[in-house]
Amino acid sequence: MATFDEWQTAYDVVYRALPATSDFACPNCGQPTLRMAITAQPAANAGYVSFWCDTCLEGIHVCRAPIPDGVTVRPMDLPPEERHPRVPNYRLVT
Ligand SMILES: [Zn+2]
Repeated sequence: MATFDEWQTAYDVVYRALPATSDFACPNCGQPTLRMAITAQPAANAGYVSFWCDTCLEGIHVCRAPIPDGVTVRPMDLPPEERHPRVPNYRLVT
């Protein structure tokens, strides 16, 4: 099982690649299926980041990060089920 530090390293790589997707390998299962989604208030310049692996459904989140140009933000003023992109119910690594 990957440590929080390993997840943090993967987070940095994937975050820096935004708005492009990254094929960086998941620190836990090794699959290139890491996903990142930012949820924020409308017009905010920072939001909270969900970061997970679609294969093993583990990940971390970051409370506050600047929103890079070109990223599709999940609007916090919509109910969670109407926010896109979707964030699955993944297990948080602490
Ligand atoms: Zn994984």
